[in-house]
Amino acid sequence: MATVLSLQLDKRSVMSDFERVDCLLLGRFQPFHLGHLEVVRKIAKECDELIIGIGSAQISHTFENPFTAGERHLMISRALREEGIKDYFLVPIVDINQYGIWVSHVRSMVPPFQRVYTNNPLTKRLFSEAGYEVSASPLFNRSHYSGTEIRKRMVAGDDWRRFVPRAVAEVIDSIDGVKRIRELMAQGEWDAGD
Ligand code: ATP
Ligand code: MG
Repeated sequence: MATVLSLQLDKRSVMSDFERVDCLLLGRFQPFHLGHLEVVRKIAKECDELIIGIGSAQISHTFENPFTAGERHLMISRALREEGIKDYFLVPIVDINQYGIWVSHVRSMVPPFQRVYTNNPLTKRLFSEAGYEVSASPLFNRSHYSGTEIRKRMVAGDDWRRFVPRAVAEVIDSIDGVKRIRELMAQGEWDAGD
């Protein structure tokens, strides 16, 4: 047993940085849904390290971005705990609105990574121009596993719970999130007609 353990440690210590594939998943996660969870499962299989960047971290209380970075942090960490995924970094990242330095901004906020998972064309471009490997994950059940679709369903009173991990629905209920989104939507219509 001791020999096996020391062999494993040796293998780990000779593994150079070059061989590592530490992966970054970027998203706003408004809210974190089952499509995101599928991507996380895939990354957990394919990568050495999993880093999740919570984008637009400074924005909350709008219809497009109803939840705070802290609330999204809670949704993701509870969902991954439920999933048995324990080893990951979860990092809030604020927008800087200057694409030319976006990659270095992200790099300064998260642990080192070699590969980025995204389907966003601009994010793809910026990271591949900066020399990163970019992986587009397949879209799982996109007609339902979509933040926009889930928020619309919350407003309309349609079922949304089956499109998010159970832990995410619990967090949303605990902060009265559906009521918040409905009121934000109504307020948006009011502002527009102001
Ligand atoms: P919104 O509609 O609010 O933009 P979203 O569902 O697109 O929400 P994001 O937080 O914008 O979620 O996306 C984060 C990342 O997850 C993006 O790269 C996006 O392409 C990916 N993603 C979103 N939905 C799915 C899905 N159903 N399957 C696989 N990847 C997804
Ligand atoms: Mg999106």
